[in-house]
Amino acid sequence: MIPMVDLTAQHADVAEEIEAGLKTVLSRGHFVFGPQTEALEKEVAAYLGTSHAVGCASGTDALHLALRALGVGPGDEVITSPFTFFATAEAICYVGAKPVFVDIDPHTFNLDPTLVEAAITPATRALLPVHLFGQPAPMEALMAIADKHGLKVVEDCAQSFGATRGGRATGTFGAAGAFSFFPSKNLGGYGDGGMVTTDSAELATVMRSLRNHGSGERYHHHTVGLNSRLDEMQSVVLRAKLKRIDRYNAGRRRVAQRYNEGLVGLPGLVTPAEDKAGLHVYAQYTLLVPERTQVMQALQAGGVACAIHYPIPLHKQQALAADYPGLSLPVAESVAARCLSLPMYPELTDAQIDQVIEAVRKAFAPASA
Ligand SMILES: *Cc1c(COP(=O)(O)O)cnc(C)c1O
Repeated sequence: MIPMVDLTAQHADVAEEIEAGLKTVLSRGHFVFGPQTEALEKEVAAYLGTSHAVGCASGTDALHLALRALGVGPGDEVITSPFTFFATAEAICYVGAKPVFVDIDPHTFNLDPTLVEAAITPATRALLPVHLFGQPAPMEALMAIADKHGLKVVEDCAQSFGATRGGRATGTFGAAGAFSFFPSKNLGGYGDGGMVTTDSAELATVMRSLRNHGSGERYHHHTVGLNSRLDEMQSVVLRAKLKRIDRYNAGRRRVAQRYNEGLVGLPGLVTPAEDKAGLHVYAQYTLLVPERTQVMQALQAGGVACAIHYPIPLHKQQALAADYPGLSLPVAESVAARCLSLPMYPELTDAQIDQVIEAVRKAFAPASA
C-alpha cells in the first residue's frame, strides 16, 4: 500500500543528527524553554526572512496567539476561507471573534481577493488567508485591501513552510504568520508544535508572554494566557529538518510534476493549478475528479491511499453551520464535492508515483484495463 505520507522514509535521512541531538537534551535534562528552541526560533526567522519567530504548541495555537496579540476579540469579524482545515476558523472563535467566509478561487482554491471587499463591514478587524496545500495566497491583492481598510493580516502558513511569492516567504507579508509542525506538514516534528512569525518586536513580546500563561517574570501574570510551548526535543527534530527543507520541498515539486505529466488527458480530471506568482510547495497534491467514489475505489484496488481535503466547507460544518443559515459559497462547495488528494511526500519513488498514476488512469478506462 502506498500511504498518503510515509514519515519513516524521512526519518532515515535525519536519524543520526536527531539521535545525537536528543541524547544531548536528555543528558542535560532541560526540556522546555531551552537552547534548542531558542536556536530554532532564530534559524526559522533567518530562513523565512522575518525578525521574530515564537515557538508554541501547535499551528492552532500559533493562529490563536497571533489573533490574541493583535487584539482581535468579541464583536470583531475576521475574513477567511471556507475551504481549509477546521483549525483556521477555530482560532478565530477562540478569541471570541466571528469567522466571515468568502469564496475561493476555482483554480488555486485560495481566498478569492476580488470577493473580499464586499464582505468588509465596520466590525471587520482582520483577514486570515490560508496558503492552501502549499500554494501562497494572492498576498499583494490581500495586503492592498487590508491597508486600504486598516485591517490586520494573519497568514495561515500551516501548509506552506518554505513557499514564496515574489521571492518572499509566506509568513512575512502580514502582521503575523502561523506555522504548524504537526508531523505530516512540510516541516514536521515528532509530535505537535507550531510557531508564529512577525516583524514587530512588540507583537513578539506579547506572544512570548501569552504562550507562557501571560507571564514575563516568573509568577507575575499580567493577563490570562495559554500554556503553549514548543519543547526542546521537538526543536532538535525541527532544526535537523529545517536544514533540509529546500530539498524536501523540491522533492514534493518533483512528485507533483510527475503526477501532472502522468495524468494528462483524463476527461473531467483537473490537476492542481499553479498561479506562477510564487513557489508552490505541495503540502497536498489535490485533484478535482468527476466521479470521486469511482476513482477512490480504483485507487484502493491499486494499493494506493487517498484522502479528501476537505469534504465539508467550514460554513457547513456542524459546529458552525447554525451561524451561517442560507450562506452559499458555490465554488468552495463544488470543490469540496470533487477534490481528491493523492499520496504526497518527498521520498516517493518514480515507481511509486507511476503506480499511483496507473491506478487513477484505470478509474477512467475500466473496460480496457
Ligand atoms: C494543520 C493545520 C492547522 C493546525 O495546525 P495544528 O498544528 O494541527 O494545530 C491550521 N491550519 C491549516 C490550514 C492546517 O493545515
